Amino acid sequence: MTEVLVLIDAPEGKATKPSLELLTIARRIGEPSAVVFGGSVPSTLAEYGAEKIYQFDDAVYDEFLVAPKAEALSQLVAEKSPAAVLVPSSAEGKEIAARVALRADSGLITDAVDVQVADGAIVTTQSVFAGNFTVDAKVTQGVPVIAVKPNSTAPEAVTGAGTVEAVTCEVSDAAKGAKITSSKPKEASGRPELTEAAIVVSGGRGTGGDFSEVEAFADSLGAAVGASRAAVDSGWYPHSFQVGQTGKVVSPQLYVANGISGAIQHRAGMQTSKTIVAVNKDEEAPIFELVDFGVVGDLKTVLPQATDEVAKRK
Ligand code: FAD
Repeated sequence: MTEVLVLIDAPEGKATKPSLELLTIARRIGEPSAVVFGGSVPSTLAEYGAEKIYQFDDAVYDEFLVAPKAEALSQLVAEKSPAAVLVPSSAEGKEIAARVALRADSGLITDAVDVQVADGAIVTTQSVFAGNFTVDAKVTQGVPVIAVKPNSTAPEAVTGAGTVEAVTCEVSDAAKGAKITSSKPKEASGRPELTEAAIVVSGGRGTGGDFSEVEAFADSLGAAVGASRAAVDSGWYPHSFQVGQTGKVVSPQLYVANGISGAIQHRAGMQTSKTIVAVNKDEEAPIFELVDFGVVGDLKTVLPQATDEVAKRK
């Protein structure tokens, strides 16, 4: 079996769900080896199938922006010649991926939603042009570097050997060009991260500026809250929660759009959700063209009822 390097995102020593999904995807194409930066190795890596764990434990990876991590991962790619490198499709993951692909003189595929082996080659699937086309692609030169979107698969617990190997990298001065001077933790909302959440409940202009029903319904489901651009431009919800072409791209198991008309730019950020539900008082709203389930009604009435119903079933 060929080795597949998987870049693990593990804030505070805990592997994120998208990182565990990558281990599951890696098993489809080879033998997963996790790559961890920092002092602690999450136990979940072995529990989700990592055969090997390469640990780069040096303060330099916390002190500087992504360049040292990219340099270390590139060194590992050169040494191990893996079948592929999988990274989370986060801002940091994609930047590292681009640098690694450049150094390896290979190809980079971003925002893949599936990775398989077909006819002996590693083939990825991407959803492009606001979800209107599905593209199968493969890297034709060097080690494929692939950024995979969160929620592309469900992480499967399969015990791997989890052998930890400490590795070091002489990080160059050039990679220390941008130092982190301070960092501030995001205010904890208690809700999952928008791009990683299995369920996203969003609100648009139809909320009239009051997101309380949207948030209550989201909390009943353990979901993240999203918003349309009309809602964030009106100052009703922070920009970091905008879903769409110029916001975040989400691909949850369930997306619930409330008081959102379904403009093409909004669809671009949520169209690949597995199941889409909309609540809109206008039965002609374009969002109903793409939903699996639609409720024609006032969200101020529908959402509290739905929240109560979820509570009853818990
Ligand atoms: P509206 O289009 O005004 O729709 C509101 C909906 O709420 C209506 O369908 C109405 O029937 C319904 N409604 C009203 N009251 C209620 C109620 N009480 N109960 C139930 N339903 C109700 N938009 C994004 O979302 N994300 C982006 O990233 C984005 N990027 C853009 C980039 C560009 C370059 C441009 C030009 C536009 C972009 N937009 C984006 C804006 C986009 O075109 C739409 O204007 C926006 O998505 C509309 O938001 P909305 O659906 O909340 O509002």
